[in-house]
Parts: sequence; C-alpha cells; structure tokens
Amino acid sequence: QPIEFAVTKNLAAKSAAEREEVLKNPGFGTVFTDHMVDICWSEKGGWHRPRVQPYGPIPLDPAASVLHYGQEIFEGIKAYRHADGGVYTFRPDRNAARLRKSAERLALPALPTSYFIQSLRELIAVDEAWVPSGADQSLYFRPFMFAKEAFLGVRAAKKVAYYVIASPAGSYFSGGVKPVSIWLSENYTRAGKGGTGAAKTGGNYASSLLPQAEAASKGCDQVVFLDQDRNVEELGGMNVVFVFKDGRVVTPASDSILEGITRDSLLQLAEDRGLTVERRPVPLQEWRDGVASGDIVEVFACGTAAVVTPIGVLKGDGFEDVQPTGELALSLREELTDIQYGRREDKHGWLVRL
Ligand code: PMP
Repeated sequence: QPIEFAVTKNLAAKSAAEREEVLKNPGFGTVFTDHMVDICWSEKGGWHRPRVQPYGPIPLDPAASVLHYGQEIFEGIKAYRHADGGVYTFRPDRNAARLRKSAERLALPALPTSYFIQSLRELIAVDEAWVPSGADQSLYFRPFMFAKEAFLGVRAAKKVAYYVIASPAGSYFSGGVKPVSIWLSENYTRAGKGGTGAAKTGGNYASSLLPQAEAASKGCDQVVFLDQDRNVEELGGMNVVFVFKDGRVVTPASDSILEGITRDSLLQLAEDRGLTVERRPVPLQEWRDGVASGDIVEVFACGTAAVVTPIGVLKGDGFEDVQPTGELALSLREELTDIQYGRREDKHGWLVRL
C-alpha cells in the first residue's frame, strides 16, 4: 500500500535555464536537485512522517550518535531517461534488499522495499526535469539512513532518519572508456571476517581514503584490497571480475565484500551468453600467475557509477603486471547500458518505471 508523503515545494527551486546549464555538464555528486525525501523512524512509532521537502541542511543535535559512532548506511542507484521520455530505474528491489542487509549489520531498522521504491518515485514526481537525456547521463540517487538520537551511550539509536537526495551524473568517462591502474594495498585491509565489509556503511569508505591516497602517490587510479588469506576482495568502490581463456568468468565470493548489483547483472548477461560463471575465493597468486601464463585474458572492475572499467595494470611493492585487454568487458558494458537506457529488450524484467 503506498504511503502518503506530505509535499512541500521548493519556492527557491533553480530556474529551467540554471538547471539546463548544470545538465549540460553535470560531473558527479556536486549539484543536487531541488527536493529531498525523508522518513522518520522511532522505536515506538516505527516508520512515520514521510515527506518531500526542499533540498537543504538537516537539523541535527550535536549529540546525534551518527556523529560519534558512525551508525549510518547508504545506497547508490540511478534513474535513466528513455527515448520515450519515461524515467526508469534498475533493479531497485536489489538496492532495497542490500540496504536492509546493511541496516541489520549496523543495528538500524529495516526499510520495506515498497517504501524504498516509493521514496525514489516521490522524488522523481517533483524533480523529474533533473533527469538528463544526454548520452550516458543519469540521475544518481543517494538514499541514506542514520542514527539521529541525541545520546552518547554506545547502543543502537532509538531515533533514525532515512533520506534520499539526487544528483545528475554525466558520462563517467569523457572521451571513451579508459583502462585504470590499480595499486595492491599490502599495508591496509578494507574489512575482516565478521566485520562490516558486506555493508554499505560510511566507515568502510572513511577507512579506504588513506589506502586510496597511497595508491595515488604510487601513480595509480584505484586501490585493490586483499583479505587476511591474500585472496582478492574488491576496489574501494567497485567489484572485480576475471575472464579466463577457456570462457570462465570468475569473481571473488567473500563475506566481507559489497555484493554489487552491477556485477550480479553483468554475470547474468555472461551466463545468458553461455559463459560459465564462478563465484569463489580468488587468491592474488592465481591472478598474477594467470596473467603471466595467459590463462587470464581480461580483468575489469564494475559498479553503478562507472558501470565497467577495464583494469590496465596492477602495481604493487616491487612489481607491475600489465593486464591483458579483451572485448568481453566492453561488450557486456554495452549490453547492460543498452538495457538500462531502454535500447534493448529487458529480458529479466530489471527496469522499473518511476
Ligand atoms: N564495492 C563497493 C565497496 C562499492 O562501494 C560499490 C558501489 N556501490 C560496489 C562494490 C559496486 O556495487 P554496485 O554495482 O551495486 O554499485
């Protein structure tokens, strides 16, 4: 049953001319639409007071526990403008389920899938004009949930807020998809057994900043993390996939990585093509040996923001492995984006009209 959102229109909304100026070259994550959605939660009242209101600062008590203990989770999902003018999103049920999984790990309340999807729909209802229509452009939604109770004791908050904001996103790669260079982090890990690696929570990203800076100081674009047994985990914000000469497509299975929806979709498309998909631990040694012997023919990273990024080189302390480049990554990328933008049949029923 849809819930009733109270709508307060933004009287200081950007003009059409200002908006069009932004949409010409939106970049990523710096400009936001005119409205935001929020729903409150309390231990006594459950989810209540759903609202659409002007985008703006959130009133927060300085003792709000999110500011002290980081009890926070988020999601990232896009809306795509189709040629018929309609606005669609991609597998929102998956993001809703992942938000609940993150919520469980961070002792936050479970938001029903129907509320999640409706929160995106309510925002599109007022900010539809912000969905760009240029090539590879989209509107990026950032749903997030945090502990807002003012209490310095360390326990799960009894008052929580859920918000959705949205930001127009340009083509991630201006001038074509370029392979990225990856730094192998030996000094830092992203997650441990039983930790929060599988949850989309702020702390995971805070702790990735120093290793990311180390990667940059080594001349690399991104960092890749290992687990304690030297298996490959993932990049700071993308999953990794290996393509083998014999047609196998292999990706790390681990309790401490974020289960990407882009990865899951690409692997489904690979299976549809008759390729064999393996989800299992991938030792770093297997990666390096596979590239050296020619058994591995392609390595790529994937996630909502960039979709698919070929990995061009893996650098570590004292080595530099140039990675082979093939055609599968870019061909799967094209198939997936064709579905997302409505240029190809959506056989799996992944699109949801907003
Ligand atoms: N791993 C991490 C750590 C991420 O932040 C993301 C981006 N959400 C991904 C993987 C890819 O997930 P998705 O394909 O759902 O965007």
